[in-house]
Amino acid sequence: MKLRTFFSLRKRIFIQIVLAGIIPAIIITVSGIFLYVKRSSANDINSLISEAKLMSNHVSTSGYMNDQTAGNMRERMTAVGNSYSGRILLINTSYRILLDTYYVDEGRITVWENVVRSMKGEITSLYDEDNQCIIVTVPIRTLHDDKERIDGVLFISKNTSYIAQTKNFYLNAAFEFLIMIAFILVIVGIILSRVLTDPLKKMSVSIDAIKNGTTQDELKIDEYKEVAEISDKFNDFTTQMRMIDESRQEFVSNVSHELKTPLASMKVLADSINSMPDAPVDLYKEFMGDIGEEIDRETKTINDLLSLVRLDKANATLNISPVNINELMELLMKRLRPLAEEKKVELVLESFRPVTAEVDEVKFSLAIMNLVENGIKYNDEGGYVHVSVNSDHQFFFIRVEDNGMGIPDESLDSIFERFYRVDKSHSREIGGTGLGLAITKNAILMHHGEIKVSSTLGEGTTFDVRVPLSYIEKVS
Ligand code: ADP
Repeated sequence: MKLRTFFSLRKRIFIQIVLAGIIPAIIITVSGIFLYVKRSSANDINSLISEAKLMSNHVSTSGYMNDQTAGNMRERMTAVGNSYSGRILLINTSYRILLDTYYVDEGRITVWENVVRSMKGEITSLYDEDNQCIIVTVPIRTLHDDKERIDGVLFISKNTSYIAQTKNFYLNAAFEFLIMIAFILVIVGIILSRVLTDPLKKMSVSIDAIKNGTTQDELKIDEYKEVAEISDKFNDFTTQMRMIDESRQEFVSNVSHELKTPLASMKVLADSINSMPDAPVDLYKEFMGDIGEEIDRETKTINDLLSLVRLDKANATLNISPVNINELMELLMKRLRPLAEEKKVELVLESFRPVTAEVDEVKFSLAIMNLVENGIKYNDEGGYVHVSVNSDHQFFFIRVEDNGMGIPDESLDSIFERFYRVDKSHSREIGGTGLGLAITKNAILMHHGEIKVSSTLGEGTTFDVRVPLSYIEKVS
């Protein structure tokens, strides 16, 4: 299982809530404690430096650095050192320790870096967290003949174990606080993640119900705007799918009906001739002629269906090449002229300008042939079909205009549907399958073109086709 699928949205929301709460809480408490340590040690250092300066003045005025019997320096220093739980050293210019309130290092030499720096006049301070103490060194300055001189260094250390103790106290309190926060966050995380993902869960259950056919209801979940939008889109999608399914079923039943009708006629013709043992040869010939016509009709329906299927395929490939449309139209007219002559319909082609366009010659010809053929078929003796070719800089236009029987207004929206015929019996009589305009429309759409129809019943029909001059493959 992929990590992505392992982490359900609920788990993700839960983890995010807990992390979003706990990480800032840890950062705030830890940095608070760190700041406390820094601040209290800085405060202590400042007050210890002030204290050390006072003491170094005192040592200087007592003259102790030159005469160790002067004043009761040891007692004073020991008292001050004890009050800090710390230690005080007095070091002379030879780096020898003259006084140590711990008595341990008296008489010894110290060249500790901070002492050396103070011997040059600097005040130093240090917070030693490991040994829990602050150490400050200050120079002892004395006036000699109106000139200030450094006679030694005062070293003072102060025990700061109380900082560590307070820090530990805060750390323990922070730990308890964080545990409590984590506990609250877990509860909030569980509740929120459930509440937030609940609509999705409901959605999944409803989709399952729709999928399994246990409900005909629409998806109706509107807890949030986003979920409501998905719900609406899903409903649109299912409606669309239902429509496609219905039209597919209708198509299949139409196909079987259209294929069965000629077969039924042939069966009737064959049965009736068979039931007449002494039927004359002329009757046989007539019946066989009728059967031949039915076979032609069946063949035409099958051929039209095949063309439609080829054009219907989602990825039907177009064989695009630059085609001289004027020449192509001349050729199509030539092919249809015999039919027009047979029906005594005048067929005229008018080319307003030379047009060369990128089209699939076979499929495009099929589309135009159907239009012109209809103009001839649904016409009366003495009628006309005018075909014109024109273009602008982007498109070329083909108009097929006839003065035939026309199409009633209520049928205009349906004539491009598969198997739709205005007058079923009349159309069958003149050899229509009801698929011609569906084929035309599909072929024009494949070229990213448009087809429009306008018609007046009893006066005639005009089809307008518009196709881009250059074929641009659409990126799906
Ligand atoms: P068919 O094979 O029956 O001609 P089409 O799809 O080509 O099928 O046309 C659908 C229907 O539209 C036809 O049955 C006819 O009733 C009507 N129709 C198409 N073209 C014309 C036209 N030029 N004039 C009148 N009616 C037409």
